[in-house]
Amino acid sequence: MKSPRWRRHISWLWLSILCFALLFAVLSYEAGWGQPQVSRYFNNTGKLTDKQLATRARERLQNSLETLLTENPQHPHYPAISQQLNIVYGLLNVPLYLDEYPCAQGTLDRLDRLDRTLATGAPVSHELAASLLLPVIQCVSDIEAGQEAKRTRVALMLLEEIENNRRMLLWWALAGCLAGFGFWALHESQRRAYTRDLHDKLEWMHRASHDPLTGILNRRALDQDLRAAIAEYRAHGQLFSLVLCDIDYFKQYNDALGHPQGDRALKDVVNAIAGALRPGDTLYRYGGEEIAILLAGADREQGQRIAERVLERVRALGIAHPEGIGGILTASAGIALVSDSGPDAEAIIAMADRQLYQAKQSGRDQLF
Ligand code: GH3
Ligand code: MG
Ligand code: MG
Repeated sequence: MKSPRWRRHISWLWLSILCFALLFAVLSYEAGWGQPQVSRYFNNTGKLTDKQLATRARERLQNSLETLLTENPQHPHYPAISQQLNIVYGLLNVPLYLDEYPCAQGTLDRLDRLDRTLATGAPVSHELAASLLLPVIQCVSDIEAGQEAKRTRVALMLLEEIENNRRMLLWWALAGCLAGFGFWALHESQRRAYTRDLHDKLEWMHRASHDPLTGILNRRALDQDLRAAIAEYRAHGQLFSLVLCDIDYFKQYNDALGHPQGDRALKDVVNAIAGALRPGDTLYRYGGEEIAILLAGADREQGQRIAERVLERVRALGIAHPEGIGGILTASAGIALVSDSGPDAEAIIAMADRQLYQAKQSGRDQLF
């Protein structure tokens, strides 16, 4: 079975809310991505585990080599060389260098050898100092360059990833906008279709119960309202009267002045009758030029008074009728009280009709 339109409407709404929530989650995740990457990068490079150790070692090595090549063992700086070399040994003896740079282990061995030679107190020849320390300085320089290149690579990768994420964020935002627009369009089209349907339904309901020429209720509506009034009378004893009103010699009016003019006169008569009623009274087009009036809560006296007023208003219109009574358009009416006819729709209508017939028989332009 086809689900009602409002239910489909609601399900679209939930679907779009779900999609937007999902999109929001993705965007939040993407937007938060950069932070941990950047902090991880700076945490790593901020520690003295990469280039800085090698740089410090190189400065000490260069000073030590200069002292060994220029000073004699009696110079006051000479004994400090061993201490400097021990510090250098410590700076270079890190797993990162030993794992990634093949020359690192050799440098430690050379430093060890030089330290042992210095420990004997024997003077270190320039050749020995140069042959031991120059490869060490070379290796340390390689480590510095290698670490620098690595840092640059990491920074470039980071930039690339940030760029990729930025691009992805842009696409997601675009997709979100398109999805939002799509859902809005769907909602809008459904809302319009729903409003159109509702409007059509109301229009058909109106047409089913109203007369297109005069705009007042029709006979179908009278049948319904009469049933409701009878139910009310049966339940609470609420009285009502039915007046059947018929334009006199209307055929002749049409014949003399034409049907379109007859239509206009009919509308004028209906408006005049409507002006003679109380707020709770209702007007129906019962047949061709016959108008029914349901007078809610009216007893005989009230009903007759209103019906007389109705005929007077029609008369007061003064619509010229060549063959009418007194040369104008008039109407006759018959009235039935629910308490007289019995609580039955057909009986009430039949009684009002009989009364109307009597009015016609008695010369028209009167109430019976
Ligand atoms: P009476 O006094 O006995 O009521 O005579 P009458 O001519 O009014 O009654 P009759 O039943 O002979 O004719 C009714 C006329 O009402 C016939 C028809 O042309 C006219 N009529 C009914 N409906 C309409 C309408 O919607 N427009 C117009 N112009 N005329 C209508
Ligand atoms: Mg008539
Ligand atoms: Mg008639």
